[in-house]
Amino acid sequence: MASDPTLSPAEPAIAKPLEPWEQPEVEAAYRVLEDKVRSYRPSDDLGPLRRAFEQAAYWHRTRKRASGEPYILHPIAVSTILAEEQMDMVCLQTGLLHDVVEDEDVSAEEIRRLFGDEVAAVVDGVTKLGKLKLASREERQAESLRKMLLAMTSDIRVIIVKLADRMHNLLTLDSLSRERQERIAHETLDIYVPIAHRLGMGRIRAQLEDNAFKYQDPEAFAEIMRQLESQRQANEGYLEQIKQAVETKLARENIPVRVFGRLKRPYSIYQKMKRQKIGMDQVYDLLAIRIITDSVKNCYAALGVIHNEWRPIMGRIKDFIAIPRPNLYQSLHTSVFGPGGHSFEVQIRTEEMHRIAEEGIAAHWKYKEGRRGATDDDQRIAWLRHLVEWQKEMSDSQAFLSTLKVELYSEEVYCFTPKGRVIVLPREACPIDFAYAIHSDVGHTCVGAKVNGRIVPLKYQLRNGDVVEILTQQNHTPSKDWLALVKTSRARNKIRHFINATERAKAIEIGQKYLEKEARRLGIQLNRIARGKLESVAGEYGHSKMEDLYAALGFGRFSARHILHLLAPDQVSDEAEPVKSAPAPAAPPTSIPGADGDLVIKVKGIDDVLVYRAKCCNPIRGEGIVGYVTRGKGIAVHSTNCKNVQNLLYESERRIDVEWARAVAEKFSVKLMVYTEDRPGMLHEITSIFYNESTNIRSVEARIDSKRTGDSAVIDLTCEVRDKRQLEKILAAIRRISGVRDVERVL
Ligand code: MN
Repeated sequence: MASDPTLSPAEPAIAKPLEPWEQPEVEAAYRVLEDKVRSYRPSDDLGPLRRAFEQAAYWHRTRKRASGEPYILHPIAVSTILAEEQMDMVCLQTGLLHDVVEDEDVSAEEIRRLFGDEVAAVVDGVTKLGKLKLASREERQAESLRKMLLAMTSDIRVIIVKLADRMHNLLTLDSLSRERQERIAHETLDIYVPIAHRLGMGRIRAQLEDNAFKYQDPEAFAEIMRQLESQRQANEGYLEQIKQAVETKLARENIPVRVFGRLKRPYSIYQKMKRQKIGMDQVYDLLAIRIITDSVKNCYAALGVIHNEWRPIMGRIKDFIAIPRPNLYQSLHTSVFGPGGHSFEVQIRTEEMHRIAEEGIAAHWKYKEGRRGATDDDQRIAWLRHLVEWQKEMSDSQAFLSTLKVELYSEEVYCFTPKGRVIVLPREACPIDFAYAIHSDVGHTCVGAKVNGRIVPLKYQLRNGDVVEILTQQNHTPSKDWLALVKTSRARNKIRHFINATERAKAIEIGQKYLEKEARRLGIQLNRIARGKLESVAGEYGHSKMEDLYAALGFGRFSARHILHLLAPDQVSDEAEPVKSAPAPAAPPTSIPGADGDLVIKVKGIDDVLVYRAKCCNPIRGEGIVGYVTRGKGIAVHSTNCKNVQNLLYESERRIDVEWARAVAEKFSVKLMVYTEDRPGMLHEITSIFYNESTNIRSVEARIDSKRTGDSAVIDLTCEVRDKRQLEKILAAIRRISGVRDVERVL
């Protein structure tokens, strides 16, 4: 019931209750905000700011903070933080109004009516974020966070205001319970810090981090602060000394610079100590200087001067100017041994890079005099595109949350398929891990990989954000060597399983052929023997299936003759004959001809090692071969089908890749055994095959097969062949001779 003084001037003024915005502490806080805004917008009409303030104060008029203060002090503080970042009027108004929808049931419609579409939309976005209970169930967090991201891409100011809100909350945690302090600290480090980092907002990120750290682990924080304090004088003195040295040297080279000495932030120190399990005295980049100059050229020039003066630490030079970080951060980093042998870090950047590093995306929403420049709009668009891509990559909530946690959970790397699916892998994972993470078939047939469009070796260590394309080839199979490269148990298991399965399949095939051949040779018709009988023999050896028995035969665990004796004791005597190795199946050659050298066989990538062909299998050119490091006798080269190798393979660390070297006129001697009818002219027909192949027979001996009926003969011969191909041709030709029952290579 305000009286109109113009109507009744004589009436004494009634002591009207103070409006919510008129309380002295509130008014004072608002003055601070206004002054801050004035400092960068000296001639602007601050009416809209005042209106937002008064309206918010009115809506919050009955509410108090946990500390007992009027609630409006919080929105004013948030808006003040935004003013420190020199944000635009929409941000500032939103800062003041950000809690009214959530806390005071003011409708979005009302805000739109009073403050316009933009402010209403940003307040709405912030309100939605406020409803998220990020420290609770992960799935729901991620779902909501995605919505948040949607809001971000439509208006990034939502996130900027939210970060300012969170910052002020952290500064006023003391009046809350320990439990809530911990929850808020955790949530900040898990969710908001990575977002600030992703958006390149270095300054806000740093403040959020250090303030959250204080509540997350109060003891560690106190300890680091105590140590920093105790070294402060020494550190400051040292930094001042370096700073002056740098300034002098750069001035001499006519490089204009501003130099700042700085200490590593408490949370960075904490993380480093934890990650590397070291004490604070071992954190070598505790001290740092930052050099800001006028041009990219002078950044590199300054780096040269620094390195000329102090010895750089290996592996610490990073060129984020040539290769900016995904959040557009640019700088040159190096660490050097300074005076007195103390190391310190140096960051070198231009003014513009510095601004981006400190403000990140917010730089593009800052208030500016006059119109925005074209480049600024381009930058904004670049940022938004970046964010949209980021968002598209999130195929599911879990992956999204993981991505937000990228920096904190650095034991993992996050890579993308070309279609944008996120693949989470352990650190140091390689493209093979990636391939198996997609599908085991992709893994099995993987022959190479492209990372960010470039071909990389399979041992390449994947990095966050890599876009990985797996190159596959049909019929390609995993290599045992992959086991040394992969980091995921999934890939390891799949590779092992595949190798075991193929080895077993091979062994089964070999075992079965071996048994059939031996049966044929001994005149036993296997198909006349009841399946049940076979299975019971298998059972005697502890194998429940015939397959298992074949595999055991294939691996050379017992001889086929021994099994045949059990099947047909009247036809086969069970001599204590040595384990006979199985005939080689026609496997595709896996060896590659070497490019140089006269050696017949060479170890991949190494020359000058003692290599010899193993006597047990005597491999010939064209056969798959594998090297085995013997104790003191050099490298024995076996045929991959050799029964000994099948056993040796399990000692995988002694296995070594070998290959046939460039073709040289070397002949391999091979022993054959031919089972034939005893008829005239047979020997002549056989020897003429060798004549036609223009290769030598070194020795030949025919004898009557004493174990068989009268018309059987066995011919033992030793011949020379060029390679596996020629041997196969000869074997096939011998088999075609009428009366030849079988021929086999004797190992
Ligand atoms: Mn708030």
